[in-house]
Amino acid sequence: MKIAPGIYEVGAPKWGYFKAGNTKAYLVEDGDDLIVIDTHYDADARFILDEISRIGRKPEDIKHIVITHGHRGHMGGMATLKRLSGAPVYAHEWEADIVSGDRAIPKVDIFVFSPIQTWPIIIVGQTTGRWNKVEPVTVDRIVDEGDKIGPLQVLHTPGHTPGHLALYWPERKALFTSDCFVTWPLITPGWRNTMLNVPQSWQTLARLATLDVEVISPGHGDSIRENGGAVLRALAQKGKF
Ligand SMILES: [Zn+2]
Ligand SMILES: [Zn+2]
Repeated sequence: MKIAPGIYEVGAPKWGYFKAGNTKAYLVEDGDDLIVIDTHYDADARFILDEISRIGRKPEDIKHIVITHGHRGHMGGMATLKRLSGAPVYAHEWEADIVSGDRAIPKVDIFVFSPIQTWPIIIVGQTTGRWNKVEPVTVDRIVDEGDKIGPLQVLHTPGHTPGHLALYWPERKALFTSDCFVTWPLITPGWRNTMLNVPQSWQTLARLATLDVEVISPGHGDSIRENGGAVLRALAQKGKF
């Protein structure tokens, strides 16, 4: 779904909350090239591939695959997309050996009592997680704060995980925040127990709130299409979970 010029949001057409809690992937058009930001939940990457054909593009147009962090709902289709496109995979150094399958995903306590909409993630995630593994891929390029991927600036945004990345497209005032905050099941900075480092997560949010932003595309839930900066500033002001 097009949410802004050159930016497409990809989610499950239905039952999205069973896919790691309405997880979202994004396509960014950089001229003739496509950048994929996160790869959704399913190994066949079908929702991403469907969107690529819907906008009249081909998998070979993918030139960069960015994994914001090494969590299940963001890595599902990465092996398929890499095979189909031959594009390099990017991640932060701290996440790279999770993406490559050499280190287990650190246990994040995903159990949040409220709101009740999060329960399907918890129940489905914990029962299917045992056998529904991600096919790992080698990270081709380690990226960090200050790097550029096409028109996107790489921001190191630790808190949820130590090597978490966000991506900022200044010319379009667009920010891809992944799990720095979510808009599903409600607009929230997250929960104390989903952050590996709670103080860092607030520092990251405060920093993101200083950016000139209209469109915000999160890792779970719908994008905010206008005045995203105000939403971030309001959240950052809370300062505690
Ligand atoms: Zn995550
Ligand atoms: Zn996530």
